[in-house]
Amino acid sequence: QEKAYQFMLRTRTPGGFVPPQLYLTLDRLADEYGSQTLRATTRQAFQLHGILKKDLKTVMASIIKSMGSTLGACGDLNRNVMAPPAPFRDKPAYDLAWHYANTVADLLTPQTGAYYEIWLDGEKVVSGEEDPTVKLSRQTDNHGTLMADSLEPIYGTYYMPRKFKIAVTVPGDNSIDLLTQDLGLVVITNKKGELQGFNVYAGGGMGRTHNKEETFPRIADAIGFVEHGDIYDVVKAIVATQRDNGNRETRRLARMKYLIENWGVAKFRQVVEGYWGKTFQPSKAMPPFKYHDYLGWHDQGDGKLFVGLPVRNGRVLDREGFQLKTALREIIQGFDRPMRVTANQNVLIYDIEPGDREAIQGILDRCGIPGPGDIDTLERYAMACPALPTCGLAITESERAIPGILERIRVLLDRLELKNEHFVIRMTGCPNGCARPYMAELGFVGTAPESYQLWLGGSPHQTRLAQPFIDRMPIDTLETTLEPLFLAFKLDHKRHESFGDFCHRLGFEELRQFMALYAEN
Ligand code: SF4
Repeated sequence: QEKAYQFMLRTRTPGGFVPPQLYLTLDRLADEYGSQTLRATTRQAFQLHGILKKDLKTVMASIIKSMGSTLGACGDLNRNVMAPPAPFRDKPAYDLAWHYANTVADLLTPQTGAYYEIWLDGEKVVSGEEDPTVKLSRQTDNHGTLMADSLEPIYGTYYMPRKFKIAVTVPGDNSIDLLTQDLGLVVITNKKGELQGFNVYAGGGMGRTHNKEETFPRIADAIGFVEHGDIYDVVKAIVATQRDNGNRETRRLARMKYLIENWGVAKFRQVVEGYWGKTFQPSKAMPPFKYHDYLGWHDQGDGKLFVGLPVRNGRVLDREGFQLKTALREIIQGFDRPMRVTANQNVLIYDIEPGDREAIQGILDRCGIPGPGDIDTLERYAMACPALPTCGLAITESERAIPGILERIRVLLDRLELKNEHFVIRMTGCPNGCARPYMAELGFVGTAPESYQLWLGGSPHQTRLAQPFIDRMPIDTLETTLEPLFLAFKLDHKRHESFGDFCHRLGFEELRQFMALYAEN
């Protein structure tokens, strides 16, 4: 008898969009075939865990027939395209970000019909025809050899050297961690809200490998502005640049960030322009980026409402006193409203009639779902990846460990009379960095069982990379390690300065001196 192999399925949901029918299907599949839970991911998708191999076909077919897909959610190709989840109907840029997240996702969807042939017995077969609208160079491998004719006009025979991540956002909204993406697009409109074009960023990425100095997290560089009519050609040109020049020999150096780091931005821009046939304009001025989590009730600007619901570590489940899975099912079933998964592993339900607010809030109250003011602010802005026991790459705990660690940090802050302080804490079970710990103000990256590398100095709005401060911190030394750092912050921080900004301003040398002095006394 065959072993009971288990699989994880991840949805393809550009901009985190989950229509009601798809959500109800995922909810049912989790109960019937999975781990009875759903997991909202940091790329605005849902994951189903624990699907047995014998059930894969049933589960995949159910998702596809409910307007969902898993195509391109994993693998060496463009992953789920992100966009701010907020449905601000009176701000046209938000609608444009959703639109372009969808169209860019479609543009870079593999053309293979095999997906449908396998999972739907060939019911729907997509043909792969060459797109004549873009002048891409002939597809060659790293050695300049022409690749064989392929059904994939963009990916070619060998697809990408590694995964490729894209987000589309609006000026000032960094709810999607723009600078961590391989490619970031910012919608630029005129005063009337009409689309002008896009500021383009490239070369972000989180993953690294412990003790391999040649691997590192990197934030994206500004490449320039492009008129809206050229955007698809620019996206294809950037993808082709990485496809043809990315490292295909050493997998851990295959992300586009390493290509840009090696070449420098000027050469990267020039090569992309070579594929595209036009030149970038200087980037347009924009307001500073801010992080928003959109929890709680908000006006959409069209008379309707949306509500952002906290999902602790993205895990949608029912447990004593907290029936989130039940609440979401009842709301979606009863009111037939769409949902958006956020990049911070929460969910928004939107297009709610004001008259339905009371009934929906009643369900949330009955099921014990807290409002934004009822959650500890450390927890509100924290993220953790699944790690053990779900992820095969995990070195140590993350999702299961973070609640206890946040509580310990809160107790420490209270004891130091820093009650009202909060900052962005992120944790992963390995250096792959799925919960983007290298952008946190305080990042924990698993290095060994019960031990973490400590990263400090990211910004509250995820606009600056953190730096490694301690290589291996056993988790039972959490308080003794953090206490001197928090004390230094208490003594020396400026008004309204957050912990990450403080660590960055003071510098690690000063922080280490303070720690040494503290240890002596
Ligand atoms: Fe990602 Fe590593 Fe966490 Fe697994 S353990 S989910 S690979 S960060």
